[in-house]
Amino acid sequence: MRFVSTRGVAPAVDFEGALMAGLAPDGGLYTPEHWPRLSTDEIADLAGRPYAEVAARILSPFVGDSLEPAALRRLCQAAYARFAHPAVAPLVQIGPASWRLELFHGPSLAFKDIAMQLLAQLYGEMLARRDGRLTIICATSGDTGGAAVEAFAGVARTDVVVLFPEGRISEVQRRFITASPESNVHALAVQGDFDACQALVKRLFRDADFAREARLTAVNSINIVRILAQAVYYATSAVALGAATPSTISGKIRFAVPTGNFGDAFAGWAARAMGLPIGEILAATNRNDILPRAFASGVYVRGTLAPTQSPAMDIQAASNFERLVFEALGRDAAATAAAFEGFEAGGALNLSGEALNAIRALGPARAVDEAETSRTMALAHDRGLGFVDPHTAVALAAAGILEAGDTREASPRVVLATAHPAKFPEAVSAATGDVVPPPAQVLALNGRPERVIRLPADLDALKSAIAGCLAL
Ligand SMILES: *Cc1c(COP(=O)(O)O)cnc(C)c1O
Repeated sequence: MRFVSTRGVAPAVDFEGALMAGLAPDGGLYTPEHWPRLSTDEIADLAGRPYAEVAARILSPFVGDSLEPAALRRLCQAAYARFAHPAVAPLVQIGPASWRLELFHGPSLAFKDIAMQLLAQLYGEMLARRDGRLTIICATSGDTGGAAVEAFAGVARTDVVVLFPEGRISEVQRRFITASPESNVHALAVQGDFDACQALVKRLFRDADFAREARLTAVNSINIVRILAQAVYYATSAVALGAATPSTISGKIRFAVPTGNFGDAFAGWAARAMGLPIGEILAATNRNDILPRAFASGVYVRGTLAPTQSPAMDIQAASNFERLVFEALGRDAAATAAAFEGFEAGGALNLSGEALNAIRALGPARAVDEAETSRTMALAHDRGLGFVDPHTAVALAAAGILEAGDTREASPRVVLATAHPAKFPEAVSAATGDVVPPPAQVLALNGRPERVIRLPADLDALKSAIAGCLAL
């Protein structure tokens, strides 16, 4: 399989090229040249298989010649061996026709582990084959850094450098970044906010000599392999709920997705494009509602960023939305490039007619305010559904499952639970009046010493810190 850029200028690359590059050199996002379709038999044959096996089957048409089938299966197995639940992503029934898909049983307790663990295995394998070495650098507002550390810690031929804003992430989030015993993990506490961290990383990449010498690469959510890895749990859950056997359930499985950068929701779109029996995909946001506004009016325009209790969704430009726009424009790369270059320059992009209809075919998009998010956490707790984190609560609220109730007649709905409630204990306790018991992954961190380098938000200080870490 070849991967093309949504902006059409960068040459097509193979799976390995797309994996290692992240962003395409023309500023676009790599996307498969076409979406392979699974046959009804292939879909039915996924039922009852271990998660890692389904992952290998979903990924194999994309991987092509970049890896032998046995190697892909081995890497998938290694990626999902460290999850605390044997199902990796278990479904828990929460109503007559509603389920919660728990994506938080990975080592850093957030759904980002699912793609990041596989990405680290793939990087390790590709680097060994080409006798290379890479430094993964990541600026984090909380969850991505922990997921990157847990995934790359101890992976041969890699170093992982995480920048986080000192004093602005939770204690649990900080420990995931700073308490790794592995010597290839480097935690940098920056005296500044998340924007300062992100700006530093961007400037670092623009320093081409340093970037080359330090072998820098980024693993952000625009990497197509992360999206493909996330399509897997749409497949496992749709198949587990009987969607592959139309005699038991009529209709397709609906999903509700807490949405920030739109990677997770787009993974659902991709799974549907591959022929999986998936109905509407509800994109749920917090007050930062660029997507619901775009779905309603056709105008995709930045608003002012408002901090919320679901910080992983505090985003005013959803990078993966470009992938859906590319599809909605009939894969017209020149039109996509014009649209997003216009958005980057002027902060707005207009969609109309067929393109807007194609966007809306994903499903509804809905924004949920802070009060409704808190009320949903409280309601779930009161109804005996346990603790839900604020991100998951946004999707639960947008789907209206607890407020309106659901009925047996409705087609099944799956709400993606993207973080463990113990990752956001303050918000959950404030809403429920109860204390979230810490899971084993958090308890294990408590006794470990933290290792962290503190530095001002300054490019030279960052470069010398990295040079020291890598012994350049
Ligand atoms: C990253 C994240 C999201 C948003 O996912 P996107 O793919 O960026 O839309 C939702 N919830 C949690 C807990 C996250 O960490």
